[in-house]
Amino acid sequence: MKDILIRGASEDGAVRFFACTTTNLVEEARKIHDCYPVAAAALGRMLSIGSMMGTMLKSDQDILTLQINGKGPAGSVVVVSDNSSNVRGYIHNPHVETTFKPSGKLDVGAAIGYEGSLTVIKDLGLKEPYVGQIPIVSGEIADDFTVYFANSEQTPSSVGLGVLVEPEGNVSAAGGFIIQVMPEAIEDTVALLEHNLAYLRPISDMVSSGLTAEEMIGEVLKGISFNVLEKKEIGYVCNCHRDRIEKVLISLGEAELVDIIEEDEKAEISCHFCNNKFHFNKEELTALLKEAKK
Ligand SMILES: [Zn+2]
Repeated sequence: MKDILIRGASEDGAVRFFACTTTNLVEEARKIHDCYPVAAAALGRMLSIGSMMGTMLKSDQDILTLQINGKGPAGSVVVVSDNSSNVRGYIHNPHVETTFKPSGKLDVGAAIGYEGSLTVIKDLGLKEPYVGQIPIVSGEIADDFTVYFANSEQTPSSVGLGVLVEPEGNVSAAGGFIIQVMPEAIEDTVALLEHNLAYLRPISDMVSSGLTAEEMIGEVLKGISFNVLEKKEIGYVCNCHRDRIEKVLISLGEAELVDIIEEDEKAEISCHFCNNKFHFNKEELTALLKEAKK
């Protein structure tokens, strides 16, 4: 089954929703970064919310960057997305030790930590990017984004994220949803939503039992009529190119480049997001040095 993202609203327009199934792209991320289970869960949750928040961007050129750093053993997790909801990301320590909560669930909060911040950067092509930041709430990621939407974007929201990691280490189910309640929502709708959310199965259960993004929303919005306004296929996509890596090398400056040329005579740069390796020999580095001198 393909990874799918949907976006829509209740019939009266008072409730907006986003939902996605991301099993394939989270499994791909796990393989690229050789994530151990807790790291796969943390990165997977960030990739799912990244794909949904990406679709909120207006223009094709806009770029969304999400970063959570709670000073825990996982280190920071960074995810980049766009309005096609194609995502990429990395976790500082993919080999973070696996710990479980008393419930038997992977302890993502303990891996992320409880002391840092969640940062949302939207590059909308303006002079300055939009930056929203909140202190970490639980490190479980869904709770942190719920608070982010309430505090930084003044939108009461409910966020659900889930990743199921098998004992063998592979990701067998992943997905999530965002529900946003507009000020015009009537009391009955809000009460119904709260009731549904209180009794909702975990996302990983729903995806694992074969529910589509639309069917998950059907459970969250049980008793409320809704319309799906957009449905699209999403994936793990990195847009690194050699010329972008060249720019990074040039930006190191003359002195640094001279050091590399004299000491190593070559350079190997790998992309943080996809681990693609780019090689530069002495002649190529010398050409970049000329560029840096300009
Ligand atoms: Zn890449």
